[in-house]
Amino acid sequence: MGEFELIRRHFQRSGVALPDQVALGIGDDCALLQPAPGHQLAVSCDMLVEGRHFFVGTNPASLGHKALAVNLSDLAAMGARPLGFTLALALPSANDAWLTAFAQGLFALADAHACPLVGGDTTRGPLNICITVLGELRPGQALRRGAAQPGDDLYVSGRTGEARLALELLLGTPWALEHAAPGTLPRLRERLERPVPRVALGRALAGLAHAALDVSDGLAGDLGHLLQASGVGAHIELPHLPVAPDLQALPPALQLDCLINGGDDYELLFTAAPADRTAIEAAAQASETPVHRIGQISAALGLRLLDAAGQPVALAPRGFDHFA
Ligand code: ADP
Ligand code: MG
Repeated sequence: MGEFELIRRHFQRSGVALPDQVALGIGDDCALLQPAPGHQLAVSCDMLVEGRHFFVGTNPASLGHKALAVNLSDLAAMGARPLGFTLALALPSANDAWLTAFAQGLFALADAHACPLVGGDTTRGPLNICITVLGELRPGQALRRGAAQPGDDLYVSGRTGEARLALELLLGTPWALEHAAPGTLPRLRERLERPVPRVALGRALAGLAHAALDVSDGLAGDLGHLLQASGVGAHIELPHLPVAPDLQALPPALQLDCLINGGDDYELLFTAAPADRTAIEAAAQASETPVHRIGQISAALGLRLLDAAGQPVALAPRGFDHFA
């Protein structure tokens, strides 16, 4: 199978109608997209490298899902509507069964968001998946990291920490093997390999919330980026952090580490004015996405973690940094 046959067979889908925003899809030198009049383009790119972002031998359908999910999550965190994406793929070989499963996982999520594959590049090389996603939003409505204000409520969607526990189980880390309940790995693994991008919530928050980002490297570390960009601080009331059933058996320190330093959560962390609490609840309901109010933004810099009695809890916040 040559390069063009591979693209035709696995990525150029005949018989699937392209949504209105795509004037021209795969097959020419460029794709042509038409954002709605007066809208801005939102562009983001995320790369998944074998052995770095996923284990050798990861289920290809899950990889197809995750490669697009992490990109849609960036659009969600900006409040943008997905328009389409490109796929740059390096493959060690043209394995038909692998490509079929990969494309299935990829297109299932793409179709669910009416976000079609409009182009890409294919080459031989170590397995590497790079997606660029394009979205649109109205000027002035983007959820930027630097827009948090003192007094804002701090929210997180869904819940954090399960992906981290899955990762530690797959790595065979002793504390994870010791404390995770038997039989939880398939569920936890789903959270690691099949994150749900919070696109509907992000769109509902555009023009309503102040600052937002998606949590990919740990809640505390990513919150640090938002605080720094906004020139503010925050506190988190730890009892308000949602705890997944599969994390409830962990000793408190390990549980907290999963919750706030986890990684690969792809939940939205955002701030909004206290006057908008009802509107935020409505946005959560309309997007069928659970949302928890976990703390507050302050003028005083730094992040404080508070226990049920309002006392500070010491735990060095640390996000994941590829070059640390
Ligand atoms: P060019 O030489 O102009 O870069 P290519 O020969 O690389 O074009 O690709 C031919 C067409 O197939 C282009 O429209 C390109 O966007 C598309 N394409 C290539 N690889 C992929 C891929 N992995 N997924 C989707 N479309 C792809
Ligand atoms: Mg090319």
